[in-house]
Amino acid sequence: IIDIGTPEHSVVTTCAYCGVGCTFKAEMRGDELVRMLPYKDGKANRGHSCIKGRFAYGYAHHKDRITKPMIREKITDPWREVSWEEAIQHTASEFKRIQAKYGKDSVGGITSSRCTNEETFLVQKLIRAGFGNNNVDTCARVCHSPTGYGLKTTYGTSAGTQDFDSVEQSDVILIIGANPTDGHPVFGSRMKKRLREGAKLIIADPRRIDLVRSPHIEADFHLPLKPGTNVALVTSLAHVIVTEGLADEQFIRERCDWDEFQDWAAFVADPRHSPEAVEKVTGVPAEQVRGAARLYATGGNGAIYYGLGVTEHSQGSTTVMAIANLAMLTGNIGREGVGVNPLRGQNNVQGSCDMGSFPHELPGYRHVSNTHAREEFEKAWGRPLDHEPGLRIPNMIDAALDGSFKGLYIQGEDILQSDPNTQHMAAGLAAMECVVVQDLFLVETANYAHVFLPGSTFLEKNGTFTNAERRIQRVRKVMAPINGYEDWEITQLLSNALGFPMHYDHPSQIMDEIARLTPTFEGVSYEKLDELGSVQWPCNEAAPDGTPVMHMDHFVRGKGKFVITEYVATDEKTGPRFPLLLTTGRILSQYNVGAQTRRTANVVWHEEDRLEIHPHDAENRGVRDGDWVKIASRAGETTLRALITERVAPGVVYTTFHHPTTQVNVVTTEFSDWATNCPEYKVTAVQVAPSNGP
Ligand code: SF4
Repeated sequence: IIDIGTPEHSVVTTCAYCGVGCTFKAEMRGDELVRMLPYKDGKANRGHSCIKGRFAYGYAHHKDRITKPMIREKITDPWREVSWEEAIQHTASEFKRIQAKYGKDSVGGITSSRCTNEETFLVQKLIRAGFGNNNVDTCARVCHSPTGYGLKTTYGTSAGTQDFDSVEQSDVILIIGANPTDGHPVFGSRMKKRLREGAKLIIADPRRIDLVRSPHIEADFHLPLKPGTNVALVTSLAHVIVTEGLADEQFIRERCDWDEFQDWAAFVADPRHSPEAVEKVTGVPAEQVRGAARLYATGGNGAIYYGLGVTEHSQGSTTVMAIANLAMLTGNIGREGVGVNPLRGQNNVQGSCDMGSFPHELPGYRHVSNTHAREEFEKAWGRPLDHEPGLRIPNMIDAALDGSFKGLYIQGEDILQSDPNTQHMAAGLAAMECVVVQDLFLVETANYAHVFLPGSTFLEKNGTFTNAERRIQRVRKVMAPINGYEDWEITQLLSNALGFPMHYDHPSQIMDEIARLTPTFEGVSYEKLDELGSVQWPCNEAAPDGTPVMHMDHFVRGKGKFVITEYVATDEKTGPRFPLLLTTGRILSQYNVGAQTRRTANVVWHEEDRLEIHPHDAENRGVRDGDWVKIASRAGETTLRALITERVAPGVVYTTFHHPTTQVNVVTTEFSDWATNCPEYKVTAVQVAPSNGP
């Protein structure tokens, strides 16, 4: 028990770790944060929290925090501390020099799903209006970009359909490629409560996640599909529902495009999509698939929750659309207890996408070729905007290697550790002339940076985050930024130095601009957020207090669109050299690349990445529990300790990506989603062999 004494005052703010968006009271004594207390009135958490939000804030004062700007001529030079004035002027002159020499499209930027909506909005504004191109992308590229594509295509909006409360009305919960008790612990607990009350549970996951069997909960069906076969499995679920007459025809006739549905129904009814026909592909017994399909279609309110096990595949967008088809097919959309719900990883991944972080979309998901939308922004910002989509992160790296992309401004994202194919990423970064990293620590990407701008933590800034249920919540400053500036102020300084002036005094003014320019945010203001606690977009004249459940009377796009989802096997194949399939994920106590959780002195943060391997595969290789093993793919190799477990099936191995010492992304490949380039982290053919250690 730690005696924290009596806090003198508290500030209500939002957790900066995951897409659940728990509200906390940050309790203070003077300028010292003494406790994070889950806030009972928090709409997303109702007084609950997990260990990360509750305890993992120590990184804010960690000795590794960089508090002074630094520059260097070459990435092999030592860093030199400089004043903010010098750092900003140097950065601006470098970007100007590069654009003058190589053209306006030779530079770009990356926004962060860890930063606020206001900060993200400013970075994309700087790129579009200041740099004059659309070379802006976000770390959502590597997680939920297929959600954006898939749900926009089928339903008309790039977001989940429900609020978290909705799960309390669900009768059947179908989880595909998500691990809520580790990835989204507070919402995972709400889900467990509903399951203990009697809701049925179907899990499609190659791995036996905790929810398959935990105290008082046992999944009715666990479909342990082979990594990379989601589309085949979900289409076979649809096959059963269509061919056994379990579809909700009235809903489809009223709410969806009937002609498209008929074409789609003929496609899924083809015997080649039957569970028996695809059993060899998915590895899931046909009877299990039939049983799960019948349960989802006839068990009452059916809700689908999915995660990165769906999106991070070469067919990520196809799977999202296959899932959307399934919900429309059964009428499980547009009311409480049902829907299609992507479980967002980072605290503001929804917000970073909403704010126009993609190279083809302005804020509010309007395509850059949309003249009317572009004119609104041009009028507000006083600059002509490019109508051609810009470069995605992988395209920026490829262009750097081709010599046409030379300067990159990265706010709060460690692309070297978190993106796939580390060697390729490193070569691309090394080929640039000015890489600017704005972050808390000297993260791995900073090894390739020429300028380091120290960023601020969520405790040191004002703004908003948008969680997985589209809930916009206030982030309130608890302490002064130890670097001197909030992140949005740094972007503003840079923009001013580049000759595109910005004049905000407070992030509330940025939100006012967002509301003026983004129809789904029209009614959002700090006053409203302070009054209501939070709002879920769309928030506008039609829904002044926000929208908990979407698509209630009609889909945002009008009629729901059934999309034909043909299964195409990934190009990543196992064979004699690489006979096992590696898939990756996360654990509860660590957060993404671990930059924050590894720097918090507390109980369990220092767990290492382990390789889960089935006893059969371990025995074949002479590997014992805890042994060092080398894992190799055609992209690279790394070393970590083995954890022998039946959580993974024979032929499948699994690990996390939290530690830079492991750098598991040196083995992941260059393959990515056909529509969005979201990397295929979930399928890598590998070999595992005993090792003497790193
Ligand atoms: Fe923070 Fe997510 Fe944990 Fe809530 S569940 S405390 S938002 S990490």
